[in-house]
Amino acid sequence: MLIDNHGRKINYLRLAVTDRCNLRCHYCMPAEGIHFARKDNLLTIEELKLLAGTLVDQGIDKIRITGGEPFVRKELMTLLRYLSSHHGIRELSMTTNATLIGPHIAELKELGITHINLSMDAIRKETFEKITRRDQFDVVYDNLMTLIEEGFNLRINFIVLENQNEQDIIPILKLQEQYPVSVRFLEEMPFNGGSKEFQAIKWNYREILEYIRGFYPGFEQMESPPTSTSINYKIPGHAGSFGIIPSFSRTFCGSCNRLRITATGDVITCLYGKPKMNVRDLLRGNDPVPSLKSAITEVIGQRAKTGFEAQEEHKGVFENSMTSIGG
Ligand code: SAM
Repeated sequence: MLIDNHGRKINYLRLAVTDRCNLRCHYCMPAEGIHFARKDNLLTIEELKLLAGTLVDQGIDKIRITGGEPFVRKELMTLLRYLSSHHGIRELSMTTNATLIGPHIAELKELGITHINLSMDAIRKETFEKITRRDQFDVVYDNLMTLIEEGFNLRINFIVLENQNEQDIIPILKLQEQYPVSVRFLEEMPFNGGSKEFQAIKWNYREILEYIRGFYPGFEQMESPPTSTSINYKIPGHAGSFGIIPSFSRTFCGSCNRLRITATGDVITCLYGKPKMNVRDLLRGNDPVPSLKSAITEVIGQRAKTGFEAQEEHKGVFENSMTSIGG
C-alpha cells in the first residue's frame, strides 16, 4: 500500500497517454499549442502497461486515463484492453473531450469502461468554438447523447470562465434535469501554458453555487466519498445531479489520494507542484520493477501537504499546461 508522509493512502493514478490535443482551449494553452513532447520521449504502450501493473502491485486500484486527448494516441485501445482485464484495477475510467470517442463507444462498453469524464465548457456552439478554437461542437454533442443512451456513467466537466461561458451555466445544468448525468463546475486553474495572465478568479466555488441557487434554491447536498474533489448536489425531481470542484481554492487536499504520471513519465505528486522524478529511464533500464517501486515509494514519502505548499515550487510563475500535466 502507498501511504504518504501525511498518512494519506494513495490508490488513484491519473495516467496520461499523450500531451497532444486536437482542441486549443485557451484556458489550457496558446493558439499555436505548446512544445509537445518528442515521440521517443513518450512512454510506449508496453511501458505504460508495465508501469500501471507495477503501481497496481503497490496499491493503486483506480486508474483514470487522460492526456492531452487520450483518443489521439494510437494504440490507446490496446492499452485499455490490457488494463480492463487487469484483476487489480477496481475502476478504470477516462477523461476526454469526446471529439474522437465515437468509433470506440461500443468497445469501451464491452470492456466495462463506463466511467467517463467528458470536458465540455459550453452547451452553445458559439461559446464552444470561442473557447476551444475548433469547430467540433456537433460531434461532441452527438457523442454525449450516444454515451447517455448507452448508459455510461457520465460526468460533464465545465470550467467556469469569466466573460466567456457564464451564460451557459444554467443551460448546461439543465442536462441533468433530463438525463442521469452529473454536471460538474470547476474553478479555472493557472495551468494555461502561457496562454494568458492568471491572477485571481471571479468564479470560485462559492460564487458558482450562489449563482445556481438563484435559479434552483431547493438543491440538497449529497453524500460524497471522502476522497471526492467535488461537492455534489441534487435538485429534487431532476434525473441527475451537479457538483462543484474547488480546483483553485483547493479545499480537498487533506484527503488527496492521487498520483499523476505524465505521458513522458514525469511523476507529479501534487497538481500544483513540479514533477518529482521521471520514470522513463527506469522503465527502459534493466530490471525496472524494483527500481520503479522504490522510486515511487520515495516520492510518495515526500508529498506536499497541500496544493498551496506545493505551489511554492513554482515561485509564483506557472508556465505549464494541463495538456502536459495530465488533467
Ligand atoms: N483532453 C481531455 C479532456 O479534454 O478532458 C483530457 C485532458 S484535459 C487537460 C483534462 C481537463 O483539464 C479538462 O477537463 C480541461 O477542461 C481541464 N483543464 C485544462 N486546463 C485547465 C485550467 N487551466 N484550469 C482548469 N481546468 C483545466
